[in-house]
Formats: sequence, structure tokens, C-alpha cells
Amino acid sequence: MVIGAGLAGSEVALQLALRGHRVVLHEMKPKQRTPAQVSDGYAELVCSNSFRSSALENAVGVIKEEMRRLGGVLIRVADHTRVPAGDALAVDRERFSRIVTHLLQNTPGIEVVEREVTELPGPSEASLVAVATGPLTAPKLAEHIGALTGGGASLYFYDAIAPIVAADSIDESIAYRASRYGKGNADDYVNCPLDRDQYEAFVQAVLEADRVTAREFEDALFFEGCLPIEVIAGRGPETLRFGCMKPVGLEHPVTGKRAHAVVQLRAENVDRTAYNLVGFQTRLKWGDQTRILRTIPGLQNAEFLRLGQIHRNTYLDSPALLDDQLRLRSAPRVRFAGQMTGVEGYVESTASGLLTAFSMISELSGRVFSPPPVETALGALHAHVLGSRRPEGVKGHVPSNVHWGMVPPLDVRAKKRDRKRAYGERALLETEAYQLRMRDELGLLDAERIEAQIALALQKEELVPPAASE
Ligand SMILES: Cc1cc2nc3c(=O)[nH]c(=O)nc-3n(C[C@H](O)[C@H](O)[C@H](O)COP(=O)(O)OP(=O)(O)OC[C@H]3O[C@@H](n4cnc5c(N)ncnc54)[C@H](O)[C@@H]3O)c2cc1C
Repeated sequence: MVIGAGLAGSEVALQLALRGHRVVLHEMKPKQRTPAQVSDGYAELVCSNSFRSSALENAVGVIKEEMRRLGGVLIRVADHTRVPAGDALAVDRERFSRIVTHLLQNTPGIEVVEREVTELPGPSEASLVAVATGPLTAPKLAEHIGALTGGGASLYFYDAIAPIVAADSIDESIAYRASRYGKGNADDYVNCPLDRDQYEAFVQAVLEADRVTAREFEDALFFEGCLPIEVIAGRGPETLRFGCMKPVGLEHPVTGKRAHAVVQLRAENVDRTAYNLVGFQTRLKWGDQTRILRTIPGLQNAEFLRLGQIHRNTYLDSPALLDDQLRLRSAPRVRFAGQMTGVEGYVESTASGLLTAFSMISELSGRVFSPPPVETALGALHAHVLGSRRPEGVKGHVPSNVHWGMVPPLDVRAKKRDRKRAYGERALLETEAYQLRMRDELGLLDAERIEAQIALALQKEELVPPAASE
């Protein structure tokens, strides 16, 4: 059983059915929509129509290529429905959704049941389950999953994403390593000191910056523990200095001086190639956010691997709840896929669907799922979901787009662009070996087979009633 015919669920269902497995796909459309949806088609892109960069220097470009090589179906539908968008893969969203809908409704082995699922099915109803109900999972099911996973403490309803910067873009002639009051490992933290003028200018800029407006279904109430920096700044000129920019215990290790305020960055991975700005979740628009964060001393040349965001988002504390097969530890029949696992974005959700499908197919063929190597973009995303490359002691889970800060560092000194290209080349080389292995173990869907299915759907496109749109 697959629950949710969004990006992840559609990929899971097609991967299984095209290998001859029987799938019952439950989707609440058209009877019910999430507050972000406007059409009745499956695999709806609810906001932008972009699958982002195709450049093989970018992790998001590489992950798309990896999906193509590993028999991903939705990525090929995206290729067929692409519209001009420079180096980005943007699609005609209605055509994209129509073709995926057609594939789901016409692939032998898939039975689509249009209903809202309110509880996970018992073992007598489904031997294997993939839950892919997305960031706006209908409330009753979310409540049920919350109860099942520890009374709600491990299921989140909002994300609060702080920016991440590449370690080698931090100017350590200004920033310094120290942990508060010398506790723990000093190397785990980098501190950017601000004097009074710099701090006041920073607060002013934050207050004047453009913010992303909340959607009507997103109440503007934030948890006290993870308020956006602009909300904290709005409470008073000194409030940030008593919160996430607190300088006490962070005296400079050489001069012994205490700065007026400090932005603290914490290692994001075991290799310390990426650092997140502690407590800097924000809804500032990305242009303003980048410009203002670069006024922080030490971050003037920062390369942002991820920018801050806050949205409504239903997702699990996957590192605590899921095993390496993406199964719920407490109920291993049940797997999760897509945004619910703590990946972020259309591309990553589709990629997550592919990995969950591989895990299910492995089990159905009596094997143990071998995840892609962590040097690949897919493998890095998988490791992010499991929290397997985060520094020791980090708790909780923050959703993320895929980025090169998630992969082990390469031992090369090269310019930024050349280094990114090297990451891409290594990833695709590793994918080749993985592809051979998966071909043996799972029988990957070959490109011709997928293309033939899509060609059939394209031929019949006119026969498919267009998805009802508001
Ligand atoms: C408002 C908003 C805007 C976004 N904009 C972007 C963007 O511009 N670019 C980007 O890359 N990412 C964006 N995202 C993030 C995200 O990657 C996408 O939402 C993506 O579609 C997630 O894929 P998914 O398969 O996990 O879930 P979805 O694609 O949302 O699919 C989940 C499916 O499950 C169904 N469902 C939910 N509950 C139930 C239930 N109880 N029973 C049966 N069916 C159910 C839904 O109807 C839906 O079809 C946005 C998210 C939101 C909420």
C-alpha cells in the first residue's frame, strides 16, 4: 500500500508496479485537497514549476542525473515536459501532473483508491506500506502517526531551518573557534564577533528586510524555542544579544576579549565542511537574507549551502524513528517517503520516493536494501535522513535540500567551481558502480522501458481529462 500520490508516492507506486508488484495507491484527491493544492491531478507541483539547476556542479543537478541512471520514472516525465528555463529543469506543471496521473491510472498492477486515509493499515490490510502524504498530511492521519511515534514529540508540524555555510568560505582571520565556557570540543563551533556598531546595523537591517509572507494556512505563531531572528529582533534592540547572539562564555581565545555580540556556527557534519548558524531560523527573503548575513564579520564571502526558511511541514524525527531501510523501527512494515522524512523540495522528495521504492523492492525480493554510497547525492540525502553523518550529540532533525556539504570532503585544493565539479564527477562515478550492483540485485527499470510508457501516455494525453483546476 502506498499512501499519497504526490511526488514521492507516485515514484514508489510506479517503481513497484513496473516490476510486477501489486500496489494499492490511496490518494485523498479529488475528494479532498491540502490547502496548497489547486488541481485534482496527482504529483501536483504546488508552487514553483522548477526542479532547479541541471548543472553537474550542483548537488541538485547531479541527483537528477543519478535518478535518470537508476531508472527513476518521474524525472523522465519532467524531462519530457520541460519548458525553457536556462540551466534549470522547469516543467509544464499541468502536463507533468497529467502524464504521471495517466501512468498511475494505466499501469497494470496499480489500483488507485481515492480516499483520505486516517490511520495506518494493519498487517491484514497491507503487508508493506509506504507513507508519502507530504508536508501537509491531512490532520487525522498526522495525529495518528504522531500518537504512534511517541505522542507527537517526534512528528513536527513546522520546520525552522537555519542557514548553512561552507566551512572554507568562513574568514577565520576574523572568526575564531571556541565553545561556550570551553565546554566540549572547540572545533565544533566557529564564532563571528560583532562590535556595537556592527550589531546595531545588523539588527536594523534585519528589521527593514523583506520577509516571506505566511500562507493563509500558516498561522504566524511560532514556537518560543525557535522564533525567526526577525521576530526576536522586533522585540527590542537588545533581544538578539540575549538570545542566539549572546557573547558570554565566548571570549576570544587569544585576546581574551568579549565581543558585543557573537554569531555562533556549529558543525553540520562529521567532516566539519559545513556549519549552521545556530538559532538563525528566518523567513527573510533569500536576496535580503544573503546580503544581510554577509555583513556579519567573518561571513563576508560566505557560500550558503542552504538558506533559512520556516514553513508548515509535517515531518518525522527520522534519525530517531527510521532504520536504514527507511522503516519505522516500531512497525517495520511501514516505510516513509518524501518530505515527511525530512528532505526538502520537489527533487529531493522524488529522490526519496525512489530510495524507499528500492528498499521495498529489496524486501520483496528477499534482500536487504543497499543504499547508494554517501559520495553520491542520493546517498548523501539518505544519510541526512538517517542523521548518520551529523556530529555526535546532535538531536532532532531539520529538513534540508541536497547540497555538497552533505558528502565527505574531497582531498583537493581547487577553486570553488572546480571543486564542485569534482564532487559531481565523483558522485556520478560512484553511481555507475551502484547502478551495476542495483541492476543485479533489483533489476533497474531501463530507460527504453520508461520512455515507452511515457510515449504511450503522451500519445493518449488528449484522451486524459485535464485535471480540474480552481
Ligand atoms: C506551500 C508549499 C509550497 C512549496 N513549494 C515548493 C517549491 O516551489 N519548490 C520545491 O522544490 N518544493 C516546494 N515545496 C516542498 C515540497 O517538496 C513539495 O511539497 C513536494 O511536493 C513534497 O513531495 P511529497 O511527495 O513528499 O508530498 P506531496 O507532493 O505533497 O504529496 C502528498 C500527497 O498525499 C496526499 N495526502 C495527504 N494526506 C493524505 C491522506 N491522509 N490520505 C490520502 N492522501 C493524502 C496529498 O493529497 C498529496 O497528493 C512546497 C511545499 C509547500 C507546502
